[in-house]
Amino acid sequence: MSEFKNFIEDIIDNDIKSGKVTEVCTRFPPEPNGYLHIGHAKSLCINFGIKTKYNGKCNLRFDDTNPSKEDTEYVESIKNDIEWLGFKWDKLLFASDYFDVMFDCAVKLINKGLAYVSDETAEEIRERRGTLTEAGTESPYRNRSAEENLQLFYGMRDGKYADGSKVLRAKIDMSSSNINMRDPVIYRVLRAHHHNTGDKWCIYPMYDFAHPIEDAYEGITHSICTLEFEDHRPLYDWVVKSCDFPEPRPQQIEFARLNVTNTIMSKRYLKKLVDEGKVMGWDDPRMPTLSGLRRRGYPAAALRDFCERIGVSKANSEVEEGYLQACVRDELNKTADRVMAVFDPLKVVLTNFEGTEDLTVENNPNAEPLTYRTVPLSKEIYIDRADFALVPPPKYYRLKPGGVVRLKGAYIIRCDEVIQDTDGNVTELHCFVLPNSKSGSDTSGVKVKGVIQWADASTCIDITVRKLQSLLTDVVDGVTDFNQRFNEDSLKVVCAKAERSLLTAKVEDKFQFMRVGYYVLDKDSTKNNLVFNEIVSLKDNFNKPN
Ligand code: ATP
Ligand code: MG
Repeated sequence: MSEFKNFIEDIIDNDIKSGKVTEVCTRFPPEPNGYLHIGHAKSLCINFGIKTKYNGKCNLRFDDTNPSKEDTEYVESIKNDIEWLGFKWDKLLFASDYFDVMFDCAVKLINKGLAYVSDETAEEIRERRGTLTEAGTESPYRNRSAEENLQLFYGMRDGKYADGSKVLRAKIDMSSSNINMRDPVIYRVLRAHHHNTGDKWCIYPMYDFAHPIEDAYEGITHSICTLEFEDHRPLYDWVVKSCDFPEPRPQQIEFARLNVTNTIMSKRYLKKLVDEGKVMGWDDPRMPTLSGLRRRGYPAAALRDFCERIGVSKANSEVEEGYLQACVRDELNKTADRVMAVFDPLKVVLTNFEGTEDLTVENNPNAEPLTYRTVPLSKEIYIDRADFALVPPPKYYRLKPGGVVRLKGAYIIRCDEVIQDTDGNVTELHCFVLPNSKSGSDTSGVKVKGVIQWADASTCIDITVRKLQSLLTDVVDGVTDFNQRFNEDSLKVVCAKAERSLLTAKVEDKFQFMRVGYYVLDKDSTKNNLVFNEIVSLKDNFNKPN
């Protein structure tokens, strides 16, 4: 964790110093209308990071006050993703559990003359709201008595009025320079089944009314949200104060949301991709959802590291996708075992090698303690076609006619003969194994500059590999609409020959395929067909085509 404080922590420090706050309490309030994405990871890291730094609390509260789009599938996925990211919430809460509290708050406002029932249509309310330069016009229902308002509001609750026919509005100031303060609607009539409260309610509170009540009721001290709520803060403060919540009242603090290049952060569009079958599901390894990134092989630690490195600010910006990939690469370099796989196999016969030798190969040079595995070597192997050149360019250190190269973890070989078909394509190489050149006990005295990966022909396995690219193509000619940017080439399936040791891998195990990239075992694997997803390439090449 960084020793530098961000502006939110500065505010919290001051609140502690002044004695306003004794125990810091934050919350993460997702709406259960989709899966969490990389943007939510930032909010999670901020809120749970504060809990850790200040030895405070962080609640997980499902903001489920909007009945229509919510689903328990999403509730479960969100809990799962947060745990995977490595965070533990204190209380698990549902905003809908506070519907009675919110109703009582609305009654309180009515009694205080701070809310009224209006019969205006949505359109009339919009027309009378005014503009940034013009004050709004007062509602004709604004001066109903508290008694009348109470009776009407109970009627709304009891189902006496049709959907949309009446609303409860806060009575604040129609000429406020902040449009959010011009008598905002705080309750509406809506007959919709709610995933938690069923059909108990036919009126539902609006977000701007519900959220501050949830925060205040739970004793949240710092309610951290994204910048678009900045203009709503006066209303937030008005609600907690007018509903008579005691001091210290929760304080809303806004930060800039995370945007990543070529990455979709709109739940609506992500849902559309799922519903239209353009992806394998919310956890498709190309999806920017946490479950997608997890399936893609992005370690939770890398996502936390990314959020820490990009920091928290008040200015909107876009982070390069490659920066996230760099964090993933750093983490996997430390943690992923190395194995060998050959994507474009070229057969090599080791002319002077008989039988099978079990080589002992190190799994990960960065691991402590070092561990080893056995890789068999026998007479026929595969190397990658790209590691041989019939007519090599200058300074070519891989295999060429008459040249030498080291087989990773094994011997130095010399290419003595190149077999070609009638079209001149290279079909096979015959190589000589240099005596005494075994890796780790090499006394051959031969210097080689190239080390290449290989697969033992008699024991290797065929694996399926998904090569993945962004779901969005780059913006061309100013076309930013996601619908027109779907990358039809974002998934390519290829085969490779890989070492047998992978047969013991478990789903989500991550590997470095040496000299190629990082790969993760996918849940679609079967005993006879291991499926790997490409996580990231080895080198930083995010600007180059694959
Ligand atoms: P939608 O408006 O599609 O429902 P949302 O992004 O507002 O999506 P919520 O479930 O309401 O989703 O978000 C939960 C929390 O995550 C909120 O506090 C929100 O501010 C935060 N959050 C959402 N997207 C981002 C983002 N891109 N960067 C940082 N925080 C985000
Ligand atoms: Mg939202």
